[in-house]
Amino acid sequence: MPVEYDVTIIGGGVVGTAIARELSRYQLKICLLEKDADVASGTSKANSGIIHAGYNAAKETLKSRLNIESNPQFDRIARNLKVPFQRIGSLVVAFAREDISKLKKEKEAGQDKGITGLEILNQEELHRKEPEIHPEARAALYAPTAGIISPYLLTIAQAENAVKNGAEVRLRSEVVDIKCDSGAVSAVVLKDSSELSSRVVINAAGLYADEIAALVGESYEITPRKGEYNLFDKEYGGMVKHVIFPMPSEESKGILITPTVEGNLLLGPNSNPVEDKEDLAVTREGLEEIWEGGRALYPDLPAEGVIASFAGLRASLPGDDFKIEALEDPVGFIDVAGIQSPGLSSAPAIATMVRDILADIAPELPEKLTLREGDFDPKLKKLPSFQDYQEKLDKWQDIFLQNPDYGEIICRCEHVTRGEIVAELNKEFTSPTLNGIKRRTRAGGGRCQGGFCGPRIAEIIAEELGISPLEVTKSGPGSEILWARVKDVKPDCDLVYGLGEKK
Ligand SMILES: Cc1cc2nc3c(=O)[nH]c(=O)nc-3n(C[C@H](O)[C@H](O)[C@H](O)COP(=O)(O)OP(=O)(O)OC[C@H]3O[C@@H](n4cnc5c(N)ncnc54)[C@H](O)[C@@H]3O)c2cc1C
Repeated sequence: MPVEYDVTIIGGGVVGTAIARELSRYQLKICLLEKDADVASGTSKANSGIIHAGYNAAKETLKSRLNIESNPQFDRIARNLKVPFQRIGSLVVAFAREDISKLKKEKEAGQDKGITGLEILNQEELHRKEPEIHPEARAALYAPTAGIISPYLLTIAQAENAVKNGAEVRLRSEVVDIKCDSGAVSAVVLKDSSELSSRVVINAAGLYADEIAALVGESYEITPRKGEYNLFDKEYGGMVKHVIFPMPSEESKGILITPTVEGNLLLGPNSNPVEDKEDLAVTREGLEEIWEGGRALYPDLPAEGVIASFAGLRASLPGDDFKIEALEDPVGFIDVAGIQSPGLSSAPAIATMVRDILADIAPELPEKLTLREGDFDPKLKKLPSFQDYQEKLDKWQDIFLQNPDYGEIICRCEHVTRGEIVAELNKEFTSPTLNGIKRRTRAGGGRCQGGFCGPRIAEIIAEELGISPLEVTKSGPGSEILWARVKDVKPDCDLVYGLGEKK
């Protein structure tokens, strides 16, 4: 039987999709498998969204090197993939006089690693850059190359671009076993018992990388560390201009405040170990902890401005570095594990490192590891978005005169039209769920968090897919948003589903 795939990637986070996109430059048959209903369903959906300058990690670590290599690449990647990215710079803020000498050491260490533009700002310079920061903030380390990005839009766009270039991305495809033959990987087995034969298997399963590695006899343990956040309404987005860090501790970079690329403000994360890899619960103690951290930097942070709270889980490995290597036994298995922060900032260089490892370990692949001549398109097309036309409404009028769907606002908070939702649902690579649409268009991501537009989006999904609204989900099977027709529960009621037109 012929081998179906040259390379199978397990995990559709920012790392797995970056690898899929990078490998789609070559003449390889690639399949990415994601267990959930969309890519960016794990750690890549809930993090600070910062592209770090790269001075934090110790020089000799892999994560330091890969972060520094990746940072300058983000302008081009974001431009090609139409992902919002802003190089707004970061500030590490010192209050105590003795912390200023620590900032100077950080600066020297950063310069030694080749990071450009690092500067120590005195009190006046700091307050000029950040007028609303705590009045007692005394100095800061300024890193102009730090930036902010939408982590889930980057992940989605990488997957979409990989698909455009011939890779397959299969959602709702959980890997439960890996088969080997004569000391080399030969196939992955999915939860529905189907098998996909593959020469190489890349383990980019995030929090579950240890469980995937165990399938080929490897033993290490990933511990989840939770980070909780508050997201503020766009009304407060302008309060903070840069990514603001406190002085770091041994364990973490501390509780930060940053604007997001969508124009909100984000406060968090704390860092606490948890037992359960699915424990995304936000706790009262956790929120108090981040609030205390936030007020220490910005005393006027408005409690009434919080529109959502959420948590993300870091995939911690002992040793606190990335683990990116091929196994000797079985041949053809590559681990990309322990990718905690700065994994988002390092994804482009992780992908090229994996490509180089692949060239070393798969002797039958070199001829396929030649570039696909003139065939690879690094770019995605930007679909019309009402948000981008706020200053040129006459141009938007031309769009909705051609297609009236672009004249009907569905999400009032974020100003998303029916046309934008329908266009996303009809893309070659999409996820027809409420979360899938929220991440791609922002519909349901504003102040009311979908309270108003959720049912209308569900109705559009049902219409476009030709399914019953009962089948529409938030994030795949098991998360259906309606459980019965109103008529079935209350026969005298003439509403069907409680959505849409009266029947
Ligand atoms: C609180 C917090 C803040 C952070 N802030 C930053 C930051 O500002 N900047 C930065 O650079 N980094 C940051 N990080 C780190 C960054 O988010 C991660 O390094 C990155 O998202 C890891 O991506 P990944 O693809 O390895 O993992 P994930 O995004 O978790 O992807 C793994 C995927 O594998 C899938 N999967 C698992 N098991 C299977 C299976 N059996 N079959 C198929 N699919 C499977 C999962 O569903 C998941 O989608 C932060 C992390 C956290 C938690």
